[in-house]
Amino acid sequence: MSIQENYNNIKNRLPDNVQLVAVSKTHPVSAIQEVYDLGQRVFGENKVQELMEKHPLLPKDIQWHLIGHLQTNKVKYIAGFIDTIQSADSEKLILEISKEAGKYNRKIKVLLQVKIAEEESKFGLEIKEAKNLFQKYIDGKFPNVEITGLMGMATFTDDRNQVKKEFSTLKKVFDELNQLKKLETLSMGMSDDFPIAIECGANSVRVGSAIFGSRDYTI
Ligand SMILES: *Cc1c(COP(=O)(O)O)cnc(C)c1O
Repeated sequence: MSIQENYNNIKNRLPDNVQLVAVSKTHPVSAIQEVYDLGQRVFGENKVQELMEKHPLLPKDIQWHLIGHLQTNKVKYIAGFIDTIQSADSEKLILEISKEAGKYNRKIKVLLQVKIAEEESKFGLEIKEAKNLFQKYIDGKFPNVEITGLMGMATFTDDRNQVKKEFSTLKKVFDELNQLKKLETLSMGMSDDFPIAIECGANSVRVGSAIFGSRDYTI
């Protein structure tokens, strides 16, 4: 199937209220432009270096989301243009994002990445830490950051119930924090599990290979 067929197919499967983040990591600028020309404006990358290379070559109205682990010393490279950092996983990182955003007189949208997978995952906040950080945000600790929601990844498994359980856990945390201060985005679900994520309350999904095809990490 062509990128265009893939893209239209995914769009048709998403309810109107669900945002699509097209995950373009490892794919060339030409493929991103092709999806842009079909109307897509929100793209996700997981590496700062790759994003910095692609960003100047593509239309300025793309909303770039960083979805991969971000080192504090790299925040400065993307602070001027990044729309949303979905992978905020420490207080130190959020402080740095706020500081660097301040230099551009802007606010950067941030999602707290929460560890929900049963499998060992390197990155992500424990639920308790996420709640603590959100309280600090409400108390004004990160003036140039706007925490707009949560992001989570389920265990990589065929067990639908397991995936459902993990997504539902994050939805509960989302509802709880949303009582304290209004949140917009619950980012859960990728190519293989986005329908389950939507069932569990996701309103933003991050879809890569189902649009762009499989990734080749050997080149
Ligand atoms: C790569 C990636 C995706 C997209 O994965 P696909 O299975 O290709 O849809 C989504 N979220 C994160 C955090 C990723 O790193």
